Amino acid sequence: MIIKTYCARMDHGGCGLRVHVEDGKIVKVEGDPDSPLNRGTVCGKGIAQVERLNHPDRLLHPLKRIGGRGEGKWERISWKEALTTIAERILHADRRSIAFAQGTPKGLELYMMIRLANLLKVPAVVTPGSICHMPRETAATITCGFFPVPDYDHPSSLVMVWGSNLFQTNEEGIIGSQLRRVLDRGAKLIVIDPRKTQLSNRADLWVQPRPGTDLALALGMLKVIVEDGLHDRAFVDQWTTGFPALQEHLKDFSLKAISEITWVPEEKITEAARLYARTRPACIQWGNAIEHNIHSVQTARALMILKAITGNLDSPGGNVNRPSPPTLRPGDFVQSRSFPEKREQLLAPEFRLAAMMGFTPSQTVVKAILSDKPYPIRMMYIQGGNPLLSYANAAETHLALKKLDFLAVAEIFLTPTAQLADIVLPTATNFEFDDMGHYGMPHGFLLARPKVVEPPGECLPDLLILNELGRKCGLGKFFWPDLRSCLDEVLNPAGVTYKDFKAMGILKGNWKYKSYERSGFGTPSKKVEILCSRLKDWGYDALPTYREEFSARDSDPHRMENYPLVLTSAKDPCYFHSAYRNLPSLRKLSPDPVVLLHPQTAEGLGVKGGDWVHIETQRGTILQKASLSPDLDPRVVVAAYGWWFPERQDLELSGWKESNINILTENDPPYEPAIGSTNLRAISCRVYKE
Ligand code: SF4
Repeated sequence: MIIKTYCARMDHGGCGLRVHVEDGKIVKVEGDPDSPLNRGTVCGKGIAQVERLNHPDRLLHPLKRIGGRGEGKWERISWKEALTTIAERILHADRRSIAFAQGTPKGLELYMMIRLANLLKVPAVVTPGSICHMPRETAATITCGFFPVPDYDHPSSLVMVWGSNLFQTNEEGIIGSQLRRVLDRGAKLIVIDPRKTQLSNRADLWVQPRPGTDLALALGMLKVIVEDGLHDRAFVDQWTTGFPALQEHLKDFSLKAISEITWVPEEKITEAARLYARTRPACIQWGNAIEHNIHSVQTARALMILKAITGNLDSPGGNVNRPSPPTLRPGDFVQSRSFPEKREQLLAPEFRLAAMMGFTPSQTVVKAILSDKPYPIRMMYIQGGNPLLSYANAAETHLALKKLDFLAVAEIFLTPTAQLADIVLPTATNFEFDDMGHYGMPHGFLLARPKVVEPPGECLPDLLILNELGRKCGLGKFFWPDLRSCLDEVLNPAGVTYKDFKAMGILKGNWKYKSYERSGFGTPSKKVEILCSRLKDWGYDALPTYREEFSARDSDPHRMENYPLVLTSAKDPCYFHSAYRNLPSLRKLSPDPVVLLHPQTAEGLGVKGGDWVHIETQRGTILQKASLSPDLDPRVVVAAYGWWFPERQDLELSGWKESNINILTENDPPYEPAIGSTNLRAISCRVYKE
């Protein structure tokens, strides 16, 4: 039997799949040629899902810790005992001492978690938002009122890929095959990336900036476009505010200064700017990498301004507004009206953009657990997340998780973070429950992810676990008798049931170009706010401004002597954050954490390709295996991210610290001031042979 569904949980999802089922088991997964997004393509992770489903290490029953925290001694318990224990802990706690946390959201489960937190009046919902998607989403919203996505359905004449490696990693549901089709039709390509990737190889122009200087580079390109008069005057005059202020702002620095900051030759900045501005229509494919430093929001703002002043905003083939289909509004799903005082009670209300979205940057919960300021956090519930690997400053995160009075983790496998829990809840994967993709995301469609097989053992979907927890906490009237009722309620405004939706597969919104011509942009001025009124009111930079500061520790005057190299990182196409090192076919392709060095740098250090090397920052030291890359800048080191060793039971928490790049990263200020991003990508380091 073949069942059609959409991929999820292996990353953000988006690819239509044909799932082959025999005797109630999935035996094969392949791309669905009928899917309008991937049209039959599928990646290695998508295929390897079968190995995850039937993996011998899958958690199958709820577990209770019976030894010391992290000692690895567990007792099997019933779901009733597990949920009653968690509910009692919640009901007897000061609600401000609780934190709910989620890794990457995959379906509706984050919304269910926020709903439960709001109904319980728990203010701390911790997500990776400040370093993932939210800087771009909020910057776009305050600049033009929507999140513009590349219009790959229309033949763009040029794509500028900035900090994204779409051929190897899915970018929030926009998948590489969409970009490939546009390029195959002849679109020009500019790639902005410190690393020479598969995409850079194909580029008409590859720009290789110093890691962490994307904002300076974007400002340099704006300067060229504005001073050459290459902007779209009609659009700028009619639909933007603050252009004269931008013109003045761009006079404050020279292209030479930008070149010194970014390490990109002046001629190349000029060439990239002119090529982008003169080729219409053009879209920018921005990536998560631009959110990994303290300029995250302003970098996204600068790229928004590039899109707007070149007339590419909401134009066919540019970056467009894709309204979602009518569904239950996310704000109603999460019952935001039930907790109006939440914003004042957040751990870090000073991050106004994070507060606007109601989430807590991850470092603030770690600091609160350790310092009891601004108030103590004593209990956490984590689903689909592995903070020991994914939060900045892993050593401090480790101390914080160990200090908690109570930690519950809902997971598929016993990750290093789950190994520290008091209670572990076994969760179902996609394919094992009804869900939908892209709800609340700004791509303008919803994807049906119907259940294909029964989950193994006693595994339950996160959605159902939280639904039941809500009922156990006495909030039964706000939760559903079963998941289908929840899904039907979400889809009700679209006039379809989940059963109808399953048959449709995809539900699109009402997409139209240039909707601003009818109602203006969704900002206070109804225009694209080059000079951002919201940021100005809050006391932040109203125009994007680059400042040369990375981390407090990097202000050490001996930094260049002691730590002469610049460390950045890259995601591995075989994995998703810290997941899937235990899937044999993927691990075979990528068996070790690999750090890229320029051959000249390696020679100076006495290192050969294949040697294990120490990477050291002022925070700590890890080991990774050297690989030599002649295309890299000799001053730059690119380490692998998300590594632990599920097979190494001999190492503490399965090797959470040996090769984990977040042993090297910093979670102290300075942070991005409006959203709290930490600096993850431009860290002074040194490298030496093991
Ligand atoms: S690219 Fe993402 S959505 Fe597509 S098959 Fe791979 S893991 Fe699944």
